[in-house]
Amino acid sequence: MPRFRTRLVHRRWLAPGILELRLARPEDVAFIPGQFLRFVMDGYERDYTMVSAPDAATIDFCIAVVDGGRFSSDIQKAGADASFQLTGPHGHFVFQGPANPAVFVATGTGVAPFVAFCRSGVDNGLLLHGVGTADRLIYRDILQSSLGDYVPCISRIPEKMDRPANAFRGRVTHYLERQLKPGTYDFYLCGRGAMIRDVTALIDQQFGDSRLFIETYD
Ligand SMILES: Cc1cc2nc3c(=O)[nH]c(=O)nc-3n(C[C@H](O)[C@H](O)[C@H](O)COP(=O)(O)OP(=O)(O)OC[C@H]3O[C@@H](n4cnc5c(N)ncnc54)[C@H](O)[C@@H]3O)c2cc1C
Repeated sequence: MPRFRTRLVHRRWLAPGILELRLARPEDVAFIPGQFLRFVMDGYERDYTMVSAPDAATIDFCIAVVDGGRFSSDIQKAGADASFQLTGPHGHFVFQGPANPAVFVATGTGVAPFVAFCRSGVDNGLLLHGVGTADRLIYRDILQSSLGDYVPCISRIPEKMDRPANAFRGRVTHYLERQLKPGTYDFYLCGRGAMIRDVTALIDQQFGDSRLFIETYD
């Protein structure tokens, strides 16, 4: 497995609790949008999916900072001159072509592979991005402008508050259950295991002839 070391170029808060990390891309590092790299840290390893296009000057990631998380803590402490050891690329969660209409379903930073798809020319499909609150709708501009259909699914909009444009009040599972027309789709699911389990069960019940591709973050 290819192993390389590279340096931190930029780090910024994309949204509350979500960091974007940019690393210099060594010229010989190539990947397919949707793949991930493994950070080899002191005594542990963590995987992160690239949000950048393969030919960009930097390799970019969006990282949900979790309370008590080892990498979450180490990445916030890393100095401006930090460098990281990585292996990869790894993974097979890549766009399969337009055989059936694509439905991309993400929660939180699970949107990462779909950002990479959009930056590499995928321009058709429905994307459901599940978040708790609207301030976590990262990469909204590129997702909205690249894909035919972009629906933020916001689970905690107070009843009396107006929804942001296009937004659905509720979880991605509720949207799929109530709004998606019967049909045969290519579903791409990325995020935490609980969402993947719920959506997979729903697809089995309502969209049984569809194809399913999954990337689980835990
Ligand atoms: C193939 C793959 C790709 C991934 N890509 C990304 C990515 O692009 N962006 C990204 O943010 N993460 C991604 N992850 C998850 C990532 O690898 C780590 O698991 C995560 O960042 C937590 O690492 P940590 O060391 O900070 O926390 P840990 O020390 O591993 O965990 C601390 C605690 O936090 C909990 N926890 C872990 N993640 C979350 C979460 N998201 N929300 C709430 N609680 C959590 C754990 O269950 C544990 O109890 C990916 C995982 C895989 C397997």
